[in-house]
Amino acid sequence: MELNGTLALVTGGSRGIGRAIALELARRGADVAINYNSNSAAAEEVVAEIEAMGRKAVAIQGNVADYASAGNLVKQAKEALGGLNCLVNNAGITRDKLLMAMKEEEWQSVIQTNLSGVYNVTQQAIRHLLRNRETGARVINITSVSGRVGVPGQANYSAAKAGIIGFTKAVAKEVSKRKILVNCVAPGFIETDMTAALNQSMVAGAVEMIPCGRLGTSQEVALAVAFLAGPGGTYITGQTLVVDGGLTM
Ligand code: NAP
Repeated sequence: MELNGTLALVTGGSRGIGRAIALELARRGADVAINYNSNSAAAEEVVAEIEAMGRKAVAIQGNVADYASAGNLVKQAKEALGGLNCLVNNAGITRDKLLMAMKEEEWQSVIQTNLSGVYNVTQQAIRHLLRNRETGARVINITSVSGRVGVPGQANYSAAKAGIIGFTKAVAKEVSKRKILVNCVAPGFIETDMTAALNQSMVAGAVEMIPCGRLGTSQEVALAVAFLAGPGGTYITGQTLVVDGGLTM
């Protein structure tokens, strides 16, 4: 299988897009550490599904927004899997509000989880990769079309997701000579708990603007991540692969 030997950590791997990514990587032969923040039962379900495929899996609690917790997460993933050579930074939250009404806490929590969380986990994982002279390792960051085009009511989220795209390019340039490839996947509107929480008339309006005429699925995002993690991705770095049904072309 094409991902045999891949030892992956998926942050926020317990639900939604992260869950689909963890399962798809395992289906292709990877062993996977599934990070969650609060919902251990959901994470354990993903572990059971992966173990049923004959792969190794572990659920690890950790708050990516906290530097020490993120470090502990990387350490535990390495120990449980016997190494680490693939990181998917997927954990993310929304606190949508128009800027005029956005509370400082709503700004800070989204930046801290979605952007600083990517720094917290990636820096500590890359230190491990460099120390171990890993070659061919992959870092895949889940950004959003919101970071490409800006979405009203999401100044915090758009800023964090645009930041991830810049972060990805800078880090890709820093580590590509060490044969570590760093890319983004940018989903559009995907059916998950996150979009279920949105105003449904807004979602219906968005569907009208999507050339493919529907929301995407977590599995469609997972397939893009698996492509970048696999043999198709060996000469791709610093890029953003957009999975949005044509919304932001
Ligand atoms: P979701 O269904 O709300 O799931 C979020 C996941 O992140 C859960 O596993 C959650 O774990 C975890 N998480 C949240 N805060 C965390 C923290 N501080 N530390 C560690 N884990 C944390 O979200 P989703 O829709 O699948 O979104 C996944 C990613 O795709 C996010 O980065 C999101 O911004 C991005 N995205 C989503 C869409 C979309 O339409 N859904 C579009 C573009 C981009 P617990 O349940 O344990 O808290």
